[in-house]
Amino acid sequence: MPKKKRRHRQTTSQGNWPDWLDDWLTENLPPSQYQYIWCLHCEHVYHAANWAQSGRACPNCGASEALDGWDWKTIQEANNYPLVPQEGACYPQYGKEG
Ligand SMILES: [Zn+2]
Repeated sequence: MPKKKRRHRQTTSQGNWPDWLDDWLTENLPPSQYQYIWCLHCEHVYHAANWAQSGRACPNCGASEALDGWDWKTIQEANNYPLVPQEGACYPQYGKEG
């Protein structure tokens, strides 16, 4: 069994959070109440179970759920996206370009 890989560090939208705070938030994060979680960092959407499997991090870019995981509904309602998103698809925060 490979050792649990350390999430690789990226600058989040909130600036530079210290690692310990990120870890603390992740460890103390309550189970997600959202069905789908959208990533503020890479704008991909995944089922909450996939975030959980990735250690409460974005399956695509590794951003932490505590900081960058948004309820899909927020994005869905703002852009008239489908209620059930395509797993792993990229949905821009401000609608499709062009
Ligand atoms: Zn991401």
